[in-house]
Amino acid sequence: MSTTQLYEPATGRELDRIDLTDLAGTDAAIERAARAQVAWAALAPADRGRLLRRFADVVDAHVDELAALEVRNAGHTIGNATWEAGNVRDVLTYYSAAPERLFGRQIPVAGGLDVTFKEPLGVVGVIVPWNFPMPIAGWGFAPALAAGNAVVLKPAELTPLTAIRLGELALEAGLPEGVLQVLPGRGDVVGERFVTHPGVGKVCFTGSTRVGRSIMRGAAEQVKRVTLELGGKSANIVFADADVEAAAAAAPMSFLDNAGQDCCARTRILVQREVYDDFLARFESAIGDVVVGDPADADSAMGPLVSAAQLETVRGYLDGVDVAFRGAGGPGGEFAGGYWHAPTVVLPRSTSESIWTQEVFGPVVAVLPFTDEAEAIAMANDTAYGLAGSIWTRDVGRALRVSRGVAAGNLSVNSHASVRYSTPFGGFKASGLGRELGPDALDAFTEVKNVFIATN
Ligand code: NAD
Repeated sequence: MSTTQLYEPATGRELDRIDLTDLAGTDAAIERAARAQVAWAALAPADRGRLLRRFADVVDAHVDELAALEVRNAGHTIGNATWEAGNVRDVLTYYSAAPERLFGRQIPVAGGLDVTFKEPLGVVGVIVPWNFPMPIAGWGFAPALAAGNAVVLKPAELTPLTAIRLGELALEAGLPEGVLQVLPGRGDVVGERFVTHPGVGKVCFTGSTRVGRSIMRGAAEQVKRVTLELGGKSANIVFADADVEAAAAAAPMSFLDNAGQDCCARTRILVQREVYDDFLARFESAIGDVVVGDPADADSAMGPLVSAAQLETVRGYLDGVDVAFRGAGGPGGEFAGGYWHAPTVVLPRSTSESIWTQEVFGPVVAVLPFTDEAEAIAMANDTAYGLAGSIWTRDVGRALRVSRGVAAGNLSVNSHASVRYSTPFGGFKASGLGRELGPDALDAFTEVKNVFIATN
């Protein structure tokens, strides 16, 4: 069995070394999951719900421990990491009500009774990226388990520690062995096996569009179900009739949260010409106020990037680009070896520059002016992606027109909030396929079966 070395993003110091699951280990886990799934699906719905609530309670009792682990492994700020662990608890609680509400339909037909059932898919493979290790794991495993599936989960190579701990907590809560297994390992070994193994009924993938495409190609071989949550290049559109002060104050954290390693980051800011200069002046001041520091410190708004490689990637996007202004760099001292990058604002010369078109996945934003509503919508949609976006305006009609006009799955008006466990989340175009969270998530983890019973 091979191992991988983990580093602490804030300092660059060695953190832990973990074993990687190999192909034989992956196959064995999938077979264990298939056996465990039969009994799990046969549990009384109320008992499955009760076990998920117990799992949520155990996660709740370990929120601080999980958050501290994420601060060290992923460099998330303690505020974010605490929210993330709490999100796993909340998603489990929300879907713990689902087993008893997995309703089918009774459809009027001649000569008998017609009913539908929502059947579990069997074993579901969940593949998680490094940017939000806990929430994205929970968005996959909670509804999948509620629907009566077993789950094999592969965390990202860089950030496996909280997922491993969640797997232990599931057992502590009383989930049967084999129902939720966490398999740290390589994408092209464990992740790819989820795609090729005939015993896995569905792959729920979050990550890059490049790998998402290859998963969809591979899944076609077995007509395997997939959910894909991929990249983004979301627009933050500020109209002249907006509360410009509020829009400028909110703009920094719309792309700096998680040091910009957020698929929903609003990395293109479009500002109507009349208020462009006013917005930029206020925005520069707000960027200067962002506290970049020790992620374990509750006052830090932004921490480091996840890895030395990600830092290099982000720097690469800034080669030859005119930077308009920057925020604070990383702290020195014991953090000098960490993967820090200052908040950076770029004013591109055209919409064809890579800083305007490519997902950087770092604390970098590009700002351009627009003339009218039609141009704003056209610019927002001039991207391969369609995950999220924000519209700042005081005109209710405009807010609705532009919300309907922007081709993206998650839009917010006078806000940058994109994610709530009770509402659907997912992308248009190259940002993905399918939706997670919200009231309909169980549809993505079940097959509809129609049964006709003759009465005469
Ligand atoms: P990535 O695609 O390289 O890796 C994601 C996961 O896929 C990892 O666990 C990796 O090991 C695995 N993987 C890699 N190659 C694989 C293969 N051939 N078969 C199966 N699995 C494989 O992405 P990343 O660098 O970890 O994450 C960053 C990307 O994720 C960004 O592009 C970001 O936009 C995207 N993302 C999207 C969302 C969303 O909800 N839409 C959320 C978070 C991140």
